[in-house]
Amino acid sequence: MDRIIIIGTGQGGLQMAASLRQEGFSGEILMLGEEPGLPYQRPPLSKAYMANGDAGALVLKPASFYERAAITLRDGVRVTAIDRATREAICADDTRHVYDHLVIATGARNMRPPIPGLQAPGVHELRTLTDAAAIRAALAATRHAIVVGGGFIGLEFAAMARAAGIAVTVIEAAPRLMSRALSPPMSAHFLKLHRDMGTEVLLDAKAARVLVDGDGHVSGVELADGRQVAGDMALIATGVRPNIELAEAAGLVCQNGILVDGTLATSDPAISALGDVAAFPGPLGQSIRLESVQAAVDHARHIAKRLLKAEIAPYAAVPWFWSDQGKYKLQIAGLLTEADEIIPLAPPDGEPATLLFRHGRLAAVETINAPGIHMAARRLIGCDIQTLRAHDFDLKAAIKAHA
Ligand SMILES: Cc1cc2nc3c(=O)[nH]c(=O)nc-3n(C[C@H](O)[C@H](O)[C@H](O)COP(=O)(O)OP(=O)(O)OC[C@H]3O[C@@H](n4cnc5c(N)ncnc54)[C@H](O)[C@@H]3O)c2cc1C
Repeated sequence: MDRIIIIGTGQGGLQMAASLRQEGFSGEILMLGEEPGLPYQRPPLSKAYMANGDAGALVLKPASFYERAAITLRDGVRVTAIDRATREAICADDTRHVYDHLVIATGARNMRPPIPGLQAPGVHELRTLTDAAAIRAALAATRHAIVVGGGFIGLEFAAMARAAGIAVTVIEAAPRLMSRALSPPMSAHFLKLHRDMGTEVLLDAKAARVLVDGDGHVSGVELADGRQVAGDMALIATGVRPNIELAEAAGLVCQNGILVDGTLATSDPAISALGDVAAFPGPLGQSIRLESVQAAVDHARHIAKRLLKAEIAPYAAVPWFWSDQGKYKLQIAGLLTEADEIIPLAPPDGEPATLLFRHGRLAAVETINAPGIHMAARRLIGCDIQTLRAHDFDLKAAIKAHA
């Protein structure tokens, strides 16, 4: 194999290139990315970057890394088509690049709910450094921010804005916060934490249209029930959609993401997919798509190993995730889906945690400000409930006893 092309220069794309070299690939590596500049990390965009504006701190690797590792990075170039017959990636500038293997790492983009007024000045979204810089610039003059969507990014932003003294209203359509990703007890706890921070949280509330003032600038959001929330800035944070269009047009099988098998190969063995855009087989045989740094990084490492070593076991990394909301670090290990038993833990000296079981085996653990328990949980996913009960659900003690 002489030449590997990676489409997308985000977290997963960069890891792919780095892991190929780590695994000993000596051929050509070409990264093609739509965003300008060096690959950077997104998580701080809704956290540290909002406070310090330090774009340099986001960069994943300095320019010298690409030179030393002989990785060609072409930024600011959109791939518009994949020709699978000739094995070429075709760019908007009409250049064509032949590959022996192609990795699609095109990530996801923000979903825009079908409500009128989203074009109004003062309405923002947050996915890229450009988005984050625009929000930072707007915040200096913001008195009341409206966040549409009570998921991770909306709530991270809400906590940051409250810390900066800005009034915040969160509008969430579901009956609870972070409902796609958290257990009901943890959602309820975060509702209390955010209300204690001074954030107004409206649940079961559907944004229906953006209101504007005489200058056309956002002045509020009207809800489906007619209520109006006044504000001079709005962040739309209603989830993301995977960037599958390239793959679909090339005839690859897609289903809530580019469908890959246990080796992260697409329906064309010459093409792999990873990260936010990849739908891969989960532990219960279902296809899952994760929007997390861990998945993007672990996928890339797995693909590099598969391309350079003859045989490796199917991908089965334990998923983990974090979200910093004010002074609270939420960490999740494992997958919450289809848990049938929840054991809430309320340590006297800390924030609550939850253990989620499926068919008597530990499926996921949610913790707040408890990195030690989170790390233990990552090693204990799949452990049976009797073993953990014998240790009074003290995960660290269970690990020690069975080390
Ligand atoms: C504000 C924010 C906060 C986050 N916080 C956390 C967190 O706390 N913890 C966590 O685990 N995860 C977090 N995430 C999610 C995490 O950043 C993503 O899961 C991760 O970046 C996925 O990596 P990826 O390589 O799949 O996609 P991305 O990093 O999104 O990279 C995809 C790249 O592909 C490019 N691209 C798309 N189409 C084309 C094309 N046709 N041609 C060329 N290039 C293309 C895109 O422009 C983009 O640069 C956060 C995300 C955001 C936006």
